[in-house]
Amino acid sequence: MNPPKRVQWIIAAFVGVFVGTVLAAAIALVNSSEREALDAARQRAEHFIASAEASLNRTLLGIDVMLAGTDLLLKPHLLPNGTHDVTGLQSQLRTTISQNLLVRDLVLMRPDGTVLAGAQPDSARLGLPLPPGFVASAMALPSPQLVISPPLVNFVTAERMVYFARPVDLGGGSRVLAVAEVPAALVASLLSQAADIEGMVATLERDDGVLLVSVPPHDALVGQRLPLPLGDETPSGHAQRAPARIGGAPALVAVRPVLYRPLLIAASIPIDAALEDVHEQRRFVIAAALLFALMVTGAGAFAHWHLGRLAQARAELDRSKTMLDHALASMADGMLLCDASDRVVVWNPRFLAIYPWLKDVIAPGVPFERLVLVGVNALLPDAAPEDQQGWVQRRMAIHRTEDGRFEQTLPDNRVIHAIERHTPDGGVITVYHDVTATERALERAKAEAEAANKAKSRFLASMSHEIRTPLNAVLGMNGLMLTTALTPEQRRYAELIRSSGQTLLTLINDILDLSKVEAGRMELEIVEFDPLATVNEVVSLLAVRAEAKGLALQMSSAPGLPPRLRGDPSRLRQVLFNLIGNALKFTSEGRVDVELTHRPLPGRRVELMISVSDTGIGIDAETLPRLFRHFSQGDSSTARRHGGSGLGLAISQEIIELMGGRIEVQSTPGVGSSFSVSLPLEVLQPAEESPQADGSPGPEPAQSQPARRILVAEDNGVNQILIKAMLDHLGHYSDVVADGFEAVRQVQAANYDLVLMDIQMPGMDGVAATRAIRTLPNSVSHIPIVAMTANAMVEERAAYLAAGMNDHVAKPLDLGRLAAVIQRVS
Ligand code: ADP
Repeated sequence: MNPPKRVQWIIAAFVGVFVGTVLAAAIALVNSSEREALDAARQRAEHFIASAEASLNRTLLGIDVMLAGTDLLLKPHLLPNGTHDVTGLQSQLRTTISQNLLVRDLVLMRPDGTVLAGAQPDSARLGLPLPPGFVASAMALPSPQLVISPPLVNFVTAERMVYFARPVDLGGGSRVLAVAEVPAALVASLLSQAADIEGMVATLERDDGVLLVSVPPHDALVGQRLPLPLGDETPSGHAQRAPARIGGAPALVAVRPVLYRPLLIAASIPIDAALEDVHEQRRFVIAAALLFALMVTGAGAFAHWHLGRLAQARAELDRSKTMLDHALASMADGMLLCDASDRVVVWNPRFLAIYPWLKDVIAPGVPFERLVLVGVNALLPDAAPEDQQGWVQRRMAIHRTEDGRFEQTLPDNRVIHAIERHTPDGGVITVYHDVTATERALERAKAEAEAANKAKSRFLASMSHEIRTPLNAVLGMNGLMLTTALTPEQRRYAELIRSSGQTLLTLINDILDLSKVEAGRMELEIVEFDPLATVNEVVSLLAVRAEAKGLALQMSSAPGLPPRLRGDPSRLRQVLFNLIGNALKFTSEGRVDVELTHRPLPGRRVELMISVSDTGIGIDAETLPRLFRHFSQGDSSTARRHGGSGLGLAISQEIIELMGGRIEVQSTPGVGSSFSVSLPLEVLQPAEESPQADGSPGPEPAQSQPARRILVAEDNGVNQILIKAMLDHLGHYSDVVADGFEAVRQVQAANYDLVLMDIQMPGMDGVAATRAIRTLPNSVSHIPIVAMTANAMVEERAAYLAAGMNDHVAKPLDLGRLAAVIQRVS
């Protein structure tokens, strides 16, 4: 449970207990004030009846004494005849009642109920409204005592009266009944204090339940018998819960007997009246308590609601934090966030996987510098303290820059790239990316790509070699055929075969060159050469083609061109062949100009510039930038029309760049193109001797060459026939063997002037056979040996010479080259 939720429950419990306590206290308060109110009412009732009884007793005693004394009043007025002087008696009675304020009339009655005398004249005349039998029963009492009538209405005054009667013995066995008439209202006045007591009803009753008076007055009930007469009990004067004497509502009732037993005085205070104040107070207390409870509950509910929202927000926060933690945990990179005061805030598991030595150090609030200090010990454990210090300073400096980046190599050789960024609140977030895997994958991919490329180059090289061998045979045979007597038609066919074969050979040579370039194995053969002669040679070879197309092909050169330069004339020829060839190919009318210029360079060097301009179709601006790319041709329709592989310019550029020069082009579509080559070359002084002469085929050898005996070692049957035919044509004798073993044997068996040795042969190859011959004991070991090879590579030539060969002739053999090499070595 999250803290706001817990607090929510505590608040709910607190509110519950608090409200319960407040209500309980309110109820207890109300109960105790009820008790107090009832006690007070009880006391009031008891107090009242005690004092009311005292005053009633006094009054009744006064009346009783007055009644009892009437015999003394009678005696002076007794006439001798036994009758009384009524007049005198009446005045005597009047005098008597004037001394008692309560008594309105005092009447003396005979036993038969007639009036003997009365203080008031009307009572003597009309008699008293006493109930029948009242007088008789009073007179019949064995001992005289006070008898009290129910309230009765006086005929004359129409007032309610209570009559108090007492028999009076006159002596001689005669009795009169003295009756005092007291207005009920006056009796009631004795209880008048009751009116001051809130809700109290005071009653004066006879023990048979007849109501004499009540305060406040209940006239309808006066003289009536009230339910539950009080005479049966022995009243204690203590107030008790009982039905009120009038109305019967629950009440506190206190009852007390008066001195004159038949009378009882009762005080009833209805519970409701006794509790009226309390009820009001209770309403107030309960209302206040409820209001208070309501307020507390409201406050509690508000707090509960508020905390609920807080809890919800907190849960939401927890959820997003969990999400964030999961996201951080599943990050492939390490991550560390520091606050604006450079203290650690958060990091992810990957961070510790990269820097495991920080596991025991890292914690929220740890200064970043502490991590760096621990890190330097793990990364540079053996470094001098000042080096370590320098490292820490550098690391901290990067940390404080706006956009820090650095690379780190861990002790286990993993390479980490770290990028640091400042957060908007001034913190720093760093992402650590382990590039080891990526770099290794890249290296692997590079190695694989290079291997694949090498395999491709190897394949191209071997394929072109394989194609070249039979092609050489075709061209060689064709060359031989052209030296024989042919009909014009046969000659045309044979020449067609030669031109197609040569196109094919050029293409294959291009592919071979390209694969050499790609394998980085293109090498130059640096010799002395005459630039003018070299260019001239190419121009004159192509002049035939220009003439055939009706184009003017002209060459011009600036004066002062050094005649002896050092460079690779055969590769330069290849480039010029390509450039002038293209110019002729893509020009249908007009001219092609070849211009040679030069400018001196520091040292004994010169920059040779050859430009080839034509008035051909030109090259559009879109094609120009990719002109020197492999297999790149202008628009495909011209390419189809003119043929070509799209390799010529690419190879030319590679060659020129290998020579340290550059090749450039300018062209306007429809107007013409101009290609220019500039080459820095070394100038040879006339006295200097070049270590090696240009190996270009010289002019056709003199037919006066003496005949030689030549041993040919060649495994390919067609080539065997070709070489033999060529040697025959040159006037030499030849024997042919098919491998190295036979060559070694045959060279000893007959007397030869020269061996033409193929390199690639089954069994013993040319190099091994040469070595074997060179170790022979006799003079045969000195026989000149010429290597014949299709892969005319410079480094291979060196290897053949090192094996003991004297010279080298490249395949495809042609008559001129073959004659030249034979002449050179013999
Ligand atoms: P290709 O063997 O196809 O001639 P190159 O590499 O020698 O290959 O030339 C590439 C392309 O450059 C050609 O196909 C042609 O479209 C364009 N090109 C080369 N030289 C010229 C030129 N002198 N005039 C017009 N277009 C040329």
